[in-house]
Amino acid sequence: MRLLFAGVRGSTPVSGPHIEGVGGHTSCVAVLSHDDPTPSLILDAGTGLLNLAPRFDDAPFAGTILVTHLHWDHVQGLPFFRAADRDDARVTLGMPAQGDARAVFERAMSPPNFPIGPDGLRGTWNFVAIEAGTHAVEGFEVTALDIPHKGGRTFGYRVSDGSRSCAYIPDHGPGGPDAKPESRERALSLARGVDVLVHGAPFTAGERAIADLFGHATVDDAIDLARAADVQHLVLTHHGPFRADDAVDAMGKSARAVFAHKLTIAREGRTIEV
Ligand SMILES: [Zn+2]
Ligand SMILES: [Zn+2]
Repeated sequence: MRLLFAGVRGSTPVSGPHIEGVGGHTSCVAVLSHDDPTPSLILDAGTGLLNLAPRFDDAPFAGTILVTHLHWDHVQGLPFFRAADRDDARVTLGMPAQGDARAVFERAMSPPNFPIGPDGLRGTWNFVAIEAGTHAVEGFEVTALDIPHKGGRTFGYRVSDGSRSCAYIPDHGPGGPDAKPESRERALSLARGVDVLVHGAPFTAGERAIADLFGHATVDDAIDLARAADVQHLVLTHHGPFRADDAVDAMGKSARAVFAHKLTIAREGRTIEV
């Protein structure tokens, strides 16, 4: 199993020479099985999703996109994913259950907020409300559990191909307003013993107050969870929109100084072996 980081930025896409090394597109990770160049499972649909279309060449997307939650930086790429916006595409869009999935998504994508609603997407789209628990998805075993964030139900996902496993927890506020005593155990059970933990780290330890205010993690929170879950490879993602390349690299350097195992900064376009 490989993870292709198509978008690694949090909150909003950014551009400019100061962020070119890390990338400016928002959250999107493609899960690739062994030799397959095109994914059938995609985690989150931020603007990074646009980066995946060229991999499909002239083929349609046929698979599942699981979003952790419905914030803009996790769904805005959906209507611009060319491989899915064609008559022969077959898309299952899964999201944390909170009523009728299609209706929930339509609140975010319909006039006057956007020129079209879900009916305007070409291809066959199936909107699915995912409950917490373990599900078989596109040949993978996927466990979804509630993660404290802010403003809407949010999942973290654990994905296993039977031999290797990873956890994807981009938006997680362990010190935030939605954190409860049982939240810690849920995050731990997603991450425990995985080969790769992909975790959000939009804030530094010095930015604790704003991290907690918006239900996000600091770098220290990510390291703390990785240590507690006995993770050997931690990947930091969901970089803050104002964090230039040199600042992200500095963050990675200080994180490596205190984390005993492998630590990688997620960069747009890079692939990581799980
Ligand atoms: Zn986010
Ligand atoms: Zn969010």
